[in-house]
Amino acid sequence: MLDKRNFYINGQWTAPIKLNDFQVINPSNEEPCAIVSLGGVADVNSAVKAAKEAFSSWSQTSKDEKISLIQKLYEIYKSRWSEMAESISLEMGAPIDWASTAQTSSGASHIKDFIKRLKEFKFELSFGNESDNYIAYEPIGVCGLITPWNWPINQITLKVIPALAAGCTMILKPSEIAPLSGMLFAEMLDESGFPPGVFNLVNGDGPGVGTQLSGHPDIDMVSFTGSTRAGKLITKNAADTIKRVCLELGGKGGNIVFEDSHTEAVREGVRNVMSNSGQSCDAPTRMLVQKSIYERAVKEAADEANIIKVDVAEKKGDHIGPVVSKTQYDKILNLIQSGIDEGATLVAGGTDRPEGLNKGYFIKPTIFTDVSNNMRIAKEEIFGPVLSIIPFEDEEEAISIVNATSYGLGNYVQTQDKEKARRVSRQFRSGGVYINGKSSDPGTPFGGYRQSGNGREGGTWGLEEYLEVKTICGWK
Ligand code: NAD
Repeated sequence: MLDKRNFYINGQWTAPIKLNDFQVINPSNEEPCAIVSLGGVADVNSAVKAAKEAFSSWSQTSKDEKISLIQKLYEIYKSRWSEMAESISLEMGAPIDWASTAQTSSGASHIKDFIKRLKEFKFELSFGNESDNYIAYEPIGVCGLITPWNWPINQITLKVIPALAAGCTMILKPSEIAPLSGMLFAEMLDESGFPPGVFNLVNGDGPGVGTQLSGHPDIDMVSFTGSTRAGKLITKNAADTIKRVCLELGGKGGNIVFEDSHTEAVREGVRNVMSNSGQSCDAPTRMLVQKSIYERAVKEAADEANIIKVDVAEKKGDHIGPVVSKTQYDKILNLIQSGIDEGATLVAGGTDRPEGLNKGYFIKPTIFTDVSNNMRIAKEEIFGPVLSIIPFEDEEEAISIVNATSYGLGNYVQTQDKEKARRVSRQFRSGGVYINGKSSDPGTPFGGYRQSGNGREGGTWGLEEYLEVKTICGWK
């Protein structure tokens, strides 16, 4: 059992002020694999004090010096790649190959891209020849960064690296369910030689540490990724101190499959939902299929779901792992049961355990058809390997079903008609649109409309989240 009780505060691994043991559970076998401590007010205060003191010099550190430290971090990250993949695989159940090629690589790609953006970014600029005004971008201050368990290092690098690049100091609170990758990342930051207090890590849960961060008077900004439920609480708690709140929340992505889509469109849509065991906020979990190809699509979708293997995370190869925790497992099974009870047709998967897996939080890739938009499985974010198929008549109807949700993160369209794809893309109320399975490039902004959030991460947009803008008049 790994002992990971210490926090990283002011450049030192520090014992919690009061021990509060919490077991990290390996979701493949339901056994504890590490012990962390959940922090409290005193731990947060000590980390905030360190971050506040470090801000005065880190905020003035030159761009070249910041680039060289982040570059060093990037080299260390690559050299400890397999440790990172193993941590992620252990804590949240991602199959080891996927943990390496998708999860760990996402962190590397963000670090690399932010180095490029930082090199290009102009922190100061003249307002034009005819004006004596001058514009300066400055770091916002001390940041509280709160991250989830589903893409742990992806979310951490999307916050920590732009905050460092902007000149901010920070306290990271990784998810208590999957804290190991974040703690390994803290070791890498330590090894890179960032000055004490610039980066701090305090483990804890929402009420114990998250709430202290969102309400703290010496924290200037909170960046949060996780549930819409917690996003609302954070926003309310941050209101008294008027801090900037950047939110990346849940989603209920629609995927419109038109009759003229390419032959792999349905299977690709199924695989896209099931990867990461359905635990991605922008997963296309509602597949809208044009009535003329509905029967064929249902057969293909069920067949594809049955082909996908489910197995333990440590096994190499191409399969999906368990879902992260007992809480998520129970919630997903409850939603699958609600689909059955509300009259949707189950064509693959269901509430039974996958064969041969008697322990672990394993769920069969599950497909419902004949789903209507008022069923719970069509409305709520399930965050498990469950796809709902909804029939539609024409373009207008499909767009209105996709937009009939409180979320707006990622939506998808499949058609070989480029003009139609662009027309539909413009009408989606979401921060991301994926045409014919194309994915986003490093450096593009990621975020949601409506209850999927209010910020953008990645690239220059992600860097600007951590900056204030100052107008200086009479500069010339
Ligand atoms: P959560 O929102 O409860 O937890 C995410 C992070 O926020 C964790 O670090 C947690 O400790 C912290 N947190 C929780 N309550 C908080 C509070 N009041 N103040 C400050 N921080 C708080 O998410 P969860 O319970 O781990 O998962 C529940 C649901 O959240 C999932 O089913 C899914 O719908 C959604 N989710 C979405 C994403 C995403 O990327 N959009 C990621 C994870 C979870």
